[in-house]
Amino acid sequence: MFSNFNKAAIEATFRAYKRPNFDIKALLNKYLRLVFDVNTSEHGYYRYLISSQQIYFLIAVIHIIVAIATSWIGIDALSYYGVFGVILFSGCMFLNKRRFDIHAVWLAYFGINLFSLVGVVSLGWGGGFVFYLSIIGPLLFLHPKGSLKIKSAMTALSVLHLIILNQVYNDGSSLYQLSTATFTLINYANVIALYVILAYFTFIYSWAANQSEKRLKELSSQWENLASKDMLSGLYNRRAMTELLNEEVSRVNRGDKSFTLAMVDIDKFKTINDSYGHQAGDEIIKSIAQIMSAHFRHHDMISRWGGEEYLIVFPETSINSAASITDRLRKKIAETKIVYDGQEIHATVTIGLSSYKKESGLDACISDADKALYFGKESGRNRVIVS
Ligand code: GH3
Ligand code: MG
Ligand code: MG
Repeated sequence: MFSNFNKAAIEATFRAYKRPNFDIKALLNKYLRLVFDVNTSEHGYYRYLISSQQIYFLIAVIHIIVAIATSWIGIDALSYYGVFGVILFSGCMFLNKRRFDIHAVWLAYFGINLFSLVGVVSLGWGGGFVFYLSIIGPLLFLHPKGSLKIKSAMTALSVLHLIILNQVYNDGSSLYQLSTATFTLINYANVIALYVILAYFTFIYSWAANQSEKRLKELSSQWENLASKDMLSGLYNRRAMTELLNEEVSRVNRGDKSFTLAMVDIDKFKTINDSYGHQAGDEIIKSIAQIMSAHFRHHDMISRWGGEEYLIVFPETSINSAASITDRLRKKIAETKIVYDGQEIHATVTIGLSSYKKESGLDACISDADKALYFGKESGRNRVIVS
């Protein structure tokens, strides 16, 4: 019985060996995603993650080349170490991806120091393996977090490591003796590899920084847009309109052209709210905003100034032409049936106009438009009054 079970187990293992379930393409895809598919919403962090990830990848590739080249030349210690390095730097990528980026830096710090040590011990000081120690500085200091003291101490330790290696191995001693040609070739290969790593690191870091900057600009213009618009009507809000007005005033004060203000107020709005409900009232505010946006020219500035009040600026427009434009608007609003929840609602507006005069200033201009509006209300509503 026992021996039968044993035999079955051995056969199963053997079958598994014969038909390995191994999809090289899927594995390669997974690895590429590990290298390039780095994501974080934190600004300033993305550029570090993506660039350090690709540096770990480049160093892993260098280890593969080292493993192959040294096994071909016959330097066993370095070729085994190459395989170990590939695993180590893949580990860095794995940690980075899981957002253990500090652990990844520690591991890479250890890996780079060990690589230089093994390289110098095997082939001597002149092999060029110490060059890799200069990646440590950028890798540590570009990290957006962590204490500056620790980063400095770690960099100093690496420099100390370099000095010790130099003191011990500058006499040309090494485990393996190579021909001068091979030795020179390895030295050049290491110098070139280091240049490639540092140039690529700088390139990818600045590329990623540009990407984040672009995204930040997009976000800030989105926010600016949100902060300047009234939620209900989609028009400029009072704050944004005040800014636009001040800009317009300083522009007019420099030249000799003027602008006209229109204060628009919905008539008997309280009654509309009371009869049809607050929601219907909101709908009226929105609909009138839409009618106004469609009615005026592109450079006229329309805002929701208060509850059911709108303030419009007509740049470089005389009060008489503003009066005829706004009277057409008044008629259009009075003729429009606004349908809400199956009910037809009629609304009218009263409009007060006033032209800006340098001598009296902006506050007087707004107050004049208000007075004209008040006069319009007093004299029966649904009309345009010129101050
Ligand atoms: P008049 O013709 O004199 O302007 O009368 P009116 O009723 O329009 O004027 P009043 O200033 O007395 O009332 C304005 C009303 O507008 C009061 C307020 O409840 C309402 N209101 C203000 N903001 C909003 C809003 O965002 N939505 C709605 N539905 N109502 C609002
Ligand atoms: Mg009002
Ligand atoms: Mg009103």
